[in-house]
Amino acid sequence: MAKSKYEYVKEFETDDRMLRNVYVLVRIDGKGFHKFSQTHDFAKPNDVRGINLMNHAARCVMHELDDIVLAFGESDEYSFLFRKSTDLYQRREAKIVSTVVSLFTSAYVYYWNDYFTDLKRPLYPPVFDGRAVLYPSEVEVKDYFAWRQADTHINNLFNTSFWALVEEGGLTPKAAEARLCGTDSKDKNEMLFTEFNTNYSKLPAMYRKGSVLLREQIPKDADKDAIIPTLPETLPGSKSAKVVPVLDTAITESGLQSGPDPISESVSEVPSGQSSPIAVDSPFVSQEMIMQEGSSTISSEGKKRSIDANEAERQDGEEGPAAKKEAPAFKRMKKGVVIDHIDIIGEKFWTGRGAYILAPEKKKKLRP
Ligand SMILES: [Mg+2]
Repeated sequence: MAKSKYEYVKEFETDDRMLRNVYVLVRIDGKGFHKFSQTHDFAKPNDVRGINLMNHAARCVMHELDDIVLAFGESDEYSFLFRKSTDLYQRREAKIVSTVVSLFTSAYVYYWNDYFTDLKRPLYPPVFDGRAVLYPSEVEVKDYFAWRQADTHINNLFNTSFWALVEEGGLTPKAAEARLCGTDSKDKNEMLFTEFNTNYSKLPAMYRKGSVLLREQIPKDADKDAIIPTLPETLPGSKSAKVVPVLDTAITESGLQSGPDPISESVSEVPSGQSSPIAVDSPFVSQEMIMQEGSSTISSEGKKRSIDANEAERQDGEEGPAAKKEAPAFKRMKKGVVIDHIDIIGEKFWTGRGAYILAPEKKKKLRP
């Protein structure tokens, strides 16, 4: 191809290829989401529509970029971990970060109306920024995700307490903040329980633990776009939600820790007076589970529980050949993007998953 005399300007471009053999983590974060959530009347302290839309946008990113092995979302942010050996865009930072941010943002707007059904599109364009961080070993990767989930815990407990004081307790925001100043996690749990009849540990795990997107086995006939929760009640439109009434029972059944919340235990909380303003600004609120898009298919982890759910459904009157046909589907599995709301702090999460999430870089064959 003939070169023009202007070609030299290309040499001004910088080489931003990221170091090889380290983990690439991209985090996107909503810009000005305090205002955005207020403008769009997000419920406080969590808006299930907003969270599901974030999860949907993150799923789009994972479907497009196969090298993302794990994602974690809370509030207005999402973190994406690329496999260590990724060679996407030759590891060029700007290309990778801009693709993630662009795809996430466009999906957020594109699917907006699926969740905010009374508003055709956002009142103004939402903005997300993004950054890439390199982590040299799996220790930092695990600690990174632990850090974000600890943040989810601290912020959500604060927000839940704050909005209980404001909306149920009749306090002004300023008075509520003053009331929470200097309290620790135990104090807030106690206050919620005694004053507002709220057992914090019984609130939906999606609010308390954030959302984890994984590539796991799913039934082969499941829709590629299906987002498959292992906690059925968090799945919009899920029939299973009706037969799994107690959230923490479901968690216990899946083999996760019951009893003391491992997140609370591992988080040394900053007194509330020093809480970041993000806590109050957090855009998402919980009120009712607005059930929208969804599927009643099941991930591998939720398999046992969901089979139990199917049993209950049959007893509920849905007997017949259709119900019996479901079992063989689990024998034909493929990898799909699965959502869960589980503890990622501690080794339990990584056991069995570490192999594919943290896989070491394959040695490249050197050509003679
Ligand atoms: Mg933000």
